[in-house]
Amino acid sequence: MEQLLAQVLAAIEPHRGEGKVADYIPALACADPGKFGIAVAGADGVVHGAGDCDEPFSIQSISKVFTLALALTRVGADLWQRVGREPSGSAFNSIVQLERESGKPRNPLINAGAIATTDALIGDGDGDSAIAGLLAFLRAQAQDDRIAVDEHVAASEAATGSRNRSLAWFMKTYGIIDNEVETALDAYFRQCAIAMSCRQLARAGLFLAFDGRDPVTGEEAIVWHNARRINSVMLLCGHYDNSGEFAYRVGLPGKSGVGGGILAIAPGRGAIAVWSPGLNEFGTSAVGARALEQFVERTGWSVFAGLANPTAGAT
Ligand code: GLN
Repeated sequence: MEQLLAQVLAAIEPHRGEGKVADYIPALACADPGKFGIAVAGADGVVHGAGDCDEPFSIQSISKVFTLALALTRVGADLWQRVGREPSGSAFNSIVQLERESGKPRNPLINAGAIATTDALIGDGDGDSAIAGLLAFLRAQAQDDRIAVDEHVAASEAATGSRNRSLAWFMKTYGIIDNEVETALDAYFRQCAIAMSCRQLARAGLFLAFDGRDPVTGEEAIVWHNARRINSVMLLCGHYDNSGEFAYRVGLPGKSGVGGGILAIAPGRGAIAVWSPGLNEFGTSAVGARALEQFVERTGWSVFAGLANPTAGAT
């Protein structure tokens, strides 16, 4: 695996620095587009990494996968009353669809759906407890207590988050948000501002590749059917209006964040995290997606692979 990751690193080298760093959240604008990291956690729990795989970055929308996992555990199928599970075909922060569809977001991985999911996770508790619970979950799964919220990033997004505020207030008028709008938003901004390295993220996502259980300890993180459902939502909705392209090129459930990270799940095999801050026009890491494509081409870990499993050479 170390050798394979070195090959992936070499393959992306000519593309290093491609894409555009997100600058609509001022604290993210100073990220170095030349950074690139990749880490893979396998069934034995060992995490292999290459490049800048130990450097923490802002996980942003990748947090939506973990709040979805916790909210499904907390409220069960009732979650689907307030958020759908269909691809949106729209940008991550789009507002038009919400009005046409009575304030119910298409899925939990677009901003509106994630804010509604976080609101469900808060329930009748408070935002701080929800974030503390999320951090505890991530630390336990990653087996690393250093995972924390970058308060500078959270404050930066809170100060500039007018679009997310609009989405949340709009949903409030339809009764999709139960708590005070600012309570739901504050928790949402803080979950997006969690900083993790590729190594931590790959290890934290491993339960999704093993039916909701940690493959090493055997401990259940979430119930198996929720793990499968989350993977299906990631495959169809994890990259907004670029989800089809990602499924076509990479062939794994994945979730991108505007910090430049992507978490990809290879069911039964492992979890892969990549990071490179330059984004394509849809807000997915350009070099990160390229690296995943290279990784899957070399490992054959696509969910669409058949038994023959030929690698390399397909276009
Ligand atoms: N915090 C970001 C936002 O709400 C997350 C977006 C993303 O990563 N796609 O705009």
